[in-house]
Amino acid sequence: MDDAAVLAPGALDRLGAEARAVAPAYRYTIITDHHVGPLYAARAVASFGGGRVDVLTVPAGEHSKTRTTWAALTDEMLALGCGRDTVVIALGGGVVGDLAGFVAATFLRGVPVVQVPTTLVAMIDAAIGGKTGVDTPAGKNLVGAFHAPAAVVIDPTVLDTLPAAQVRAGLAEAIKHGVIADAGYFDRTIAALPVLLAPGGATTPAMTAIIAGSIAIKAAIVAADAREHGRRKVLNFGHTIGHAVEAASEYTLLHGEAVAIGMAIESRLAELAGIATAGIADRVRAALDAAGLPSRLPATAVAADIVTRTHLDKKARAGIVEYALPRSLGDMAGADSGWAVALPDAFVTEALG
Ligand code: NAD
Repeated sequence: MDDAAVLAPGALDRLGAEARAVAPAYRYTIITDHHVGPLYAARAVASFGGGRVDVLTVPAGEHSKTRTTWAALTDEMLALGCGRDTVVIALGGGVVGDLAGFVAATFLRGVPVVQVPTTLVAMIDAAIGGKTGVDTPAGKNLVGAFHAPAAVVIDPTVLDTLPAAQVRAGLAEAIKHGVIADAGYFDRTIAALPVLLAPGGATTPAMTAIIAGSIAIKAAIVAADAREHGRRKVLNFGHTIGHAVEAASEYTLLHGEAVAIGMAIESRLAELAGIATAGIADRVRAALDAAGLPSRLPATAVAADIVTRTHLDKKARAGIVEYALPRSLGDMAGADSGWAVALPDAFVTEALG
């Protein structure tokens, strides 16, 4: 990874120094949301010890990740007089990270961004790898840009205020990292779950170790294939079915919850298609159960509807839907087919059953 990652309790109070070191600028624009801003923006501003630091705040939630909010933010920055000597600081979860990253990618044809993720999902996934963008009425993340952060500054103590369901949603991505790249990390994550999920567990050294482990896995994959021409596709494990389930739930499921269901079903799919060793689906499901994550389709979901929705996926090519599937824990299939496996709907229907 060419972006510097800082992971340490108290890192938020050193944000100014870190940002100035990797991205010196005349002024800094912190973009945050209505939940995170009141909790952490003042500390972020104070860390600069003076100088020009503005704070722009958007409503919390996925519905802020739009071109409308992007337009409002870029207009506000222009009205403030921000020039090319501005650095954007994304202070928040994945929504803020993707949105502020896209603002930075496009403002005056691109200014640096420093990612300061405050959810577990953002720390181990969204802030790493340089994908930025917004949603459109046609689907999630359909307009965006690759824009690697100048730095990622992670203070795990901010997880103290994160709702428990959001912590679990992040653990879904940690479990995913284990399945796609490292069986030992998968086992360590499961072993740590009782500590991670106990009251106060989100700010323990055990959680910091999980964050570090996940970042290392994602960063190595991204370093090998920044633009998702091949190996990076393994990160999509659980996401083809997951995105379909998430949309079918009308976004009442958290992304991590939908991905959890997607991983359980896609593991079964891998077994049914003869790609994975027997037993992997049971192990993935047991891990999700232990994390308190869903592993079965919601009662309201209709299998035929989920199959139809998989065809809307960005990964569908020429009418055939592609999946990132495990061969065994820590080892993904498809090294000789671009890390994606095209499967007919009949298998998918069976896996959903
Ligand atoms: P989010 O940004 O909506 O944050 C979840 C909620 O937690 C929000 O209400 C937020 O205000 C609140 N919050 C954030 N930090 C908090 C804290 N420390 N204390 C209290 N509340 C806090 O959701 P998310 O799960 O972080 O991110 C999901 C988004 O990330 C999706 O839009 C998804 O597409 C995107 N994503 C992007 C990538 C990528 O590679 N770019 C990867 C994964 C996910």
